[in-house]
Amino acid sequence: MSSLLLANLRLVVTMDDEGRELSGASIANQDGWITRVGEVSPSDRFDETIDCSRFVAIPGLINAHHHLYQTLTRGFSQSVGLGLFDWLTLLYPIWAGLDEEMVYASTQTGLAELALSGCTTSADHLYVFPPGSDAFLDAQAEAAGAVGLRFHATRGSMDLGQRDGGLPPDSITQPREVILKDSERVVQRYHDPGPGSMLRIGLAPCSPFSATPELMLETAGLAREMEVRLHTHLAETLDEDEYSRRELGVGPVDFLDRVSWLESDVWLAHCVHLQPSDIQMFGERRVSVAHCPTSNMLLGSGLAPVRDLLNGNVSVGLGVDGSASNDGNDLIREVKQAVLSARARDGAGAMPVRQALRLATRGGAACLGRDDVGCIAAGKAADLALFDADSLVMAGTDEDLVAGLILSAARPDSVYVHGRPVVRNGHLVRLDEEALAARQRAASRLLLERWREGASL
Ligand SMILES: [Zn+2]
Repeated sequence: MSSLLLANLRLVVTMDDEGRELSGASIANQDGWITRVGEVSPSDRFDETIDCSRFVAIPGLINAHHHLYQTLTRGFSQSVGLGLFDWLTLLYPIWAGLDEEMVYASTQTGLAELALSGCTTSADHLYVFPPGSDAFLDAQAEAAGAVGLRFHATRGSMDLGQRDGGLPPDSITQPREVILKDSERVVQRYHDPGPGSMLRIGLAPCSPFSATPELMLETAGLAREMEVRLHTHLAETLDEDEYSRRELGVGPVDFLDRVSWLESDVWLAHCVHLQPSDIQMFGERRVSVAHCPTSNMLLGSGLAPVRDLLNGNVSVGLGVDGSASNDGNDLIREVKQAVLSARARDGAGAMPVRQALRLATRGGAACLGRDDVGCIAAGKAADLALFDADSLVMAGTDEDLVAGLILSAARPDSVYVHGRPVVRNGHLVRLDEEALAARQRAASRLLLERWREGASL
């Protein structure tokens, strides 16, 4: 490996515990780890030195919730506007046509776009497993490795189909034994718990309206036995709240408590509709939340009580959510959305810009159970996004470069993961963007063709 010096940055936004922002500082890296932030002795020698005097550095952003396969159907259902249950009911039969090539192409497409928006670590939640899906997680692991982002794949699952009162068609659900066996397999094969890990696995039954209580309980047992994290959707819509009270006899958070999920190894997507007692319980049990403001607004789900969660000492990360409810993979824009949605809900003081950036860095790291990423400090992994302070979109933001880069339409010039460039001059380093787009278009067209042929039978 090698040493790298990013010299004389215009500003380094560390997101450390003190929230330090350093003008003219340098970031020294060795073998993918940050060794020093600040002044560097002229006698120190590096294999590569890059003059960064026009750049603002922030920690690489962390995406805490996603469904990468949905990049195959983005825009599709959004021209009219459907709530979550109608939207899912429309899309489930289309996603039933997924195959390995589609999973591979969409994983790369989503992660590539995320990288271009300053993201260095992403979670994913793949929960659609039609017949022939045995190697979906394997395809994702391979695809993510080629992009160069850190990847937290979660093995999603649904075992509660329409036949048994659930929402999804039975054809994309699996028996519980099959789910648990494959979950164990992918953890054993791919999960790397070590510092600087590029690939980790979590377990993730989809939601209370598509997974049985037995699956939730047994998945939690398996995850704890194998020491991996747990993830699911929760309290996303009022429909879900009604479903939970009608079918399960309790609200969504009490249901989770019943199946042993309110623990510190759990992070939950959405959490829009919460009672004050739910927030208190999350704080006490150290459950983390992945906030997905664009998705919540697009599906009309509501505005999550992020200010109340933060006041209740709950760790909150940020997620772009699946690309059929966003419909992009742009994490720096999601930081802006976090600012806007919190202020729309609770007033102008509800979300300072730096706090929103903290959600997408330290908050995301907390969701994924990592202490090696999320801030710029000696001993942390060299995951960085560099924005050009002299670019047109940032011209006029000198007085507050942090607010400037988040609220303007800034895109990173360079992105490093473990000291290795994945984006340079605003473009992917490892993959050909046009070739990837063509591969994704072909996969998306085939998926919709399959659906139309099936629908016309
Ligand atoms: Zn989701």
